[in-house]
Amino acid sequence: SHELRTPLNGIVGLSEVLLESSELDKQSKEMIELINHSGKRLTDLVNDILDDASLNNGELILHRENLQLEPIIEKEIRSLSVELKPGVALSFDDNSKETWLIADPVRIKQILHNLVGNAIKFTPSGEVRINVSTVQQHVEICVSDTGIGIPSDRLEAIFDNFSQVDGSLKRMYNGVGLGLSITKKLVELHGGNITVVSELGKGSQFVVELPLTD
Ligand code: ADP
Repeated sequence: SHELRTPLNGIVGLSEVLLESSELDKQSKEMIELINHSGKRLTDLVNDILDDASLNNGELILHRENLQLEPIIEKEIRSLSVELKPGVALSFDDNSKETWLIADPVRIKQILHNLVGNAIKFTPSGEVRINVSTVQQHVEICVSDTGIGIPSDRLEAIFDNFSQVDGSLKRMYNGVGLGLSITKKLVELHGGNITVVSELGKGSQFVVELPLTD
């Protein structure tokens, strides 16, 4: 993991230093922005592949702490809202106000990032909603969208490694099909579970259930 991450950190970090230089002409700046963007995408992919490998080998260790869910969701919304297509709304309904979990904050953020990122990616119009509610000793995080939906015969398979509804080279969405498989394993490692309901052309709803702090 060190051999993969170190050169990538160099590419991303040094391209950022270069971008801060005022001496660059427009064309050079655009090319360095592209290097930076590609470096970041490759870093995400490498991180996913490494996470997937450690999850499959039972080597991923959770660093649990007592944490509040809402600020993590709000931060994720702020960072992902730049990816919304024009006219698509992103909303957060918090029915429980203060939700406390004993969980790994980095991994909770990763779960939300994958689900909300997918909802935004696969929603050309309409809305993406995040809803949090507590049901007995569990919290339910629901990410729903009015996007392209998933055919019913593919609903189970989308949680498998490298599984995508449209896996063709010409597909219009980026990604390699690891996000949901990692998400499911991370949720289960926290003692929770994830379910999906979806209708083709109408939208999807992913529900993550996690145990609450007593
Ligand atoms: P990726 O997004 O990198 O393709 P994921 O593992 O996150 O991989 O998702 C697997 C597949 O499940 C996606 O390629 C897509 O076909 C389908 N999918 C996931 N989330 C949604 C969604 N909100 N709406 C429609 N399809 C989805």
